[in-house]
Amino acid sequence: VPLRALAYHDVVEPGQRASSGFSGAGPDRYKLSPHRFGEHLDALRAAGVTIARAGDPDGVLLTFDDGGASAATTIGPALAARGLAGHFFVVTGCLGDPAFVDAGAVRALRDAGHVIGSHSHTHAILTRLPIEDVRDEWARSKAVLEELLGETVDTLAVPRGYVTPRILEAAAGCGYRHLFTSEPWTVPRPVGRALAYGRYSVNETTPTAHVVALATGARRAVWRDASLWYARKAAKRAAGPLYDRVRATLLART
Ligand SMILES: [Zn+2]
Repeated sequence: VPLRALAYHDVVEPGQRASSGFSGAGPDRYKLSPHRFGEHLDALRAAGVTIARAGDPDGVLLTFDDGGASAATTIGPALAARGLAGHFFVVTGCLGDPAFVDAGAVRALRDAGHVIGSHSHTHAILTRLPIEDVRDEWARSKAVLEELLGETVDTLAVPRGYVTPRILEAAAGCGYRHLFTSEPWTVPRPVGRALAYGRYSVNETTPTAHVVALATGARRAVWRDASLWYARKAAKRAAGPLYDRVRATLLART
């Protein structure tokens, strides 16, 4: 059984999307209601899915990007109530900002048995930075989290979906061992001494049955997500920097 990772963001009541994580039409799409999130966790358990930790050979990894305040107030408790572990990828430059976790919340998540990782220092689009700045994003966020936790931090998630081999190589060079992308593949790929993982993105419109299908490796679900993702990537590549503006415009309309 391959390893599969699900990528979540914040979990907030629909009327309170600005209370956790990044704001705006784009980020808001990835915020689930507590009711829906609980439904996902219960359905995964009912389906007999094994929830794993980075480094385990198989199972399903639950990952949460950005370090929004709901990581500590809502997601952590929902996982703990079911005896599950999550991976929280924190933007260290946002620590303590309104709508984001602070140092105490990060320690509390770690103490509750969750994995804490980096999501870069500034949440920049790394493909647009010179490689020395990419290295700085990885090294700085690692140092901040290690100082805060008093232990090695060796997992990360690449921010905003933009990834190239050199971004992953820079992360491996900084000492990270588990590198999570937002690309939909299931077999971890070696990058130096690290492993790069694909992830399946979950948003508020993802049906619970589809989440279970992804987690259990149902071929149609996995194929559907992969083909949609590669189509979007081709569109991005064709449109170049225009893609972001077009996407922002489309999201603003909906
Ligand atoms: Zn992010």
